[in-house]
Parts: sequence; structure tokens; C-alpha cells
Amino acid sequence: MRCAIVGSGLAALATYATVRHGGLPAEEIAVFGTHEDPTEVWRTRAAAIRQQRMRSESEGHLAPAAVPGLAVREALHRGSPAPLLRSVANRYHPSVDEFLAHAEDVRRRTGWQRSLRLQRVERIRAVEGGFTLDGEGLFAHVLLATGHPGLARPDAFPGAVHAYEPHEYATKVVVVGAGMAAATEWLNALAAGAEVVSIRRREPLRRPLNVPRPFFSKRGLAAFHAATTERRAATLRELSTPSYPAGAAWDEPVRAAEREGRFRAQASPNGGASLNGVQVIAATGFRQGFRHDALLADLVDAHDLPTHDRWIVLDPDSTVAALTDETRTLAIAGVAAQWAFPAADTIAGAKYAAHAFRRRACRTR
Ligand SMILES: Cc1cc2nc3c(=O)[nH]c(=O)nc-3n(C[C@H](O)[C@H](O)[C@H](O)COP(=O)(O)OP(=O)(O)OC[C@H]3O[C@@H](n4cnc5c(N)ncnc54)[C@H](O)[C@@H]3O)c2cc1C
Repeated sequence: MRCAIVGSGLAALATYATVRHGGLPAEEIAVFGTHEDPTEVWRTRAAAIRQQRMRSESEGHLAPAAVPGLAVREALHRGSPAPLLRSVANRYHPSVDEFLAHAEDVRRRTGWQRSLRLQRVERIRAVEGGFTLDGEGLFAHVLLATGHPGLARPDAFPGAVHAYEPHEYATKVVVVGAGMAAATEWLNALAAGAEVVSIRRREPLRRPLNVPRPFFSKRGLAAFHAATTERRAATLRELSTPSYPAGAAWDEPVRAAEREGRFRAQASPNGGASLNGVQVIAATGFRQGFRHDALLADLVDAHDLPTHDRWIVLDPDSTVAALTDETRTLAIAGVAAQWAFPAADTIAGAKYAAHAFRRRACRTR
């Protein structure tokens, strides 16, 4: 078979839509995944933090062509230019419900179901002219989109619920962490009437949520790709430091609650309050690095692939150079592709990898 996509999330759907649009029939693509609904993993996490609006750049949609994006659709639907104007200023954030309806539309139109095989892939090996997956088949072009390798859970709080798992709020809530998920939990818990203790080792870093725009431009990416491996890793480390945006919408509810004695911050669980009987929420993000993903770790070890720190070294087009040539492609999308595209863990990042993959998988048929 010509093509395999491993993973069944948003990046896999974006890639599937892109290669189908590039002319590959569903019969020439196999999607190996764990979920029938490609939004399920993301949707559950977004619902857990009560996300209402997409945080993406305006181009954050899953359709294979850049236009019409979601802003155009909404403008037509509402008969108003407002979404388009916001989109031009890169301030268009559709609701989560609109995004989910769009994802379902893409899933249905592209024939995703015809290519989907519900199977977790354990092993990928390069062979002459392509790759085998769990010892089966021969796939010339393979893209891995396996998502984040699990939630990070702090050892000090074994009973904590993770912020990305469904939860309600108790009357006393301890939130561990200092990034976007933590700040969201403070506001959610305060709005639910809870008393909140924020446990954080340092003062939160305040900056816009998204990776800076230059990393989306040709010139900015070229500079990133030209940097030394050390510099590149330092940039990725800096970008992944937990943070949340500045602004009154974040600060005022917290300040008001501080005045009421319903919010306080402390550096450790032993820093004052007793944690007995309170709800602990770990807003501590994901485990980081390819070593936590069994499939990627096995692939790296089996083929002795180049890595740097927690990243697999990729070419700028998101491919693994050692396993890619005129006849075959091994590409990575999603968070594990940050070496090629710093914002790989966004919908725009998924599309970056998908378009590069399409250029190879749909090249000569
Ligand atoms: C709460 C939250 C909100 C976010 N909001 C936005 C947003 O508004 N805009 C934006 O651009 N980005 C957003 N992101 C970032 C990003 O878009 C999401 O993380 C998105 O889910 C990434 O898609 P993915 O396909 O890489 O991973 P996932 O959606 O996690 O999908 C990976 C899939 O692959 C499966 N899989 C894993 N290993 C294997 C295997 N070996 N074999 C077969 N299948 C496997 C998994 O089970 C899963 O189904 C958000 C992230 C979070 C956590």
C-alpha cells in the first residue's frame, strides 16, 4: 500500500484530508489508530479545562486548502464580515463547537472511516522500498502522528486529578502548576465558588500563548533551521516553558479572590495550608520527549536515529532523513515534530507536516 498514517487525532485527520485532496484514493491509505473519532482525545481534554473558543491562529482548521477557512464559512453563515475582519488581524477564534462540527465534516467528506484500522502500532521497521508496521504490509510513505506521550503527574500528589481529565470542583482546591492549564483552573474553580491554593515553584511567566509569529514565516523558520543543534534545543526549551497570557481577564478574578481570602499562592504543599481532604488538580501538562512514546523510542533504537536531548532530529520538511529517500518517506507530525516546526503541536503545525508529506506521498503515482 502506498501510504500509512499512525495515530487517530487531529494531526492524523489533517494529514488524511491533505493526501486525499492530493489525489490519493482511500484504498491507498491506511490510518492506524486507537479512536474512531479523531477529535476524541483533544475534545476530552478541552472539555476538562472548559475551553470555549479555539486558541489557534486564524488558519487553525483541518480542511486541506487554506481557503475557505472557518472565518469565511462563519461570515457566509451569519451574513456578517466580522469574522473575516478578525481573521485578517489574526484574532479569529471560532468556538470549540464550531471547530468540532467542522472536524466532523472533514472526517465525513474525506472517507476517513474507509481507511481507519483500529490498531495500536507497536513496531515500525524500514525495509527495502518502505516500512512494515507490526511486521505487516509494505507502506512506501508513513507519517507518525501519535500525539503527546501521556499526562505528566507530579510524584508528590499521587491522588491528584489531572487538569486534562474530566473533573468538577470541590469547595477547596489546590492547583499544582503555573502555566495556561493552571491559570485556567484557578479561574474555573473560583467561578465555581471554590477556595483556591496555587502551588508553584516560581512566579508564572506571562506571554502570549502561541508560538511567536516569526516561527510560522519562511524567514523565521529558515533561521530556526539554520541554528546549531544547541541553539535550536534552547529555543524549543524556552518555548515550552509554562506560561499564560497577560491581561485583566486573567488577573482580575484572581485579585478579587485574593482580597476575599479565596486565593493564595505558595511554593510547596508544606508552605502553609494543610492539604488534607482538599481536591488536588495537577495542571502539569504532558510528559515530554520521544522516550515516553514507546513506538518512537523503539524506532529510534532499532534504526539508531539521530536525536538531541528529548527531540528526534528531523529535516525541515518533518522527515527522518536516515529513513527517507526517493522511494520512501518516514515523517512525523504533532508534538514530536518540533525539531522541524516549533509550533508542531498546533493545528497549523499539523498542517505544516501534512503538506510536506503530501508533496512526497502524492508525487508520482
Ligand atoms: C486542552 C488543549 C487544548 C488545545 N487547544 C488547541 C487549539 O485551540 N488550537 C490549536 O491549534 N491547538 C490546540 N491544542 C494543541 C493540539 O492541537 C492538540 O494537542 C491536538 O490534540 C494534537 O493533535 P495530535 O493528532 O498530534 O494528537 P492527539 O489528538 O492526541 O492524537 C493522537 C492519537 O494517536 C493515537 N496513538 C498514539 N500512539 C499510537 C500508536 N502507537 N498506534 C496508533 N495510534 C496511536 C492516540 O491514542 C490518539 O488517538 C490544544 C491542546 C490541549 C491539550
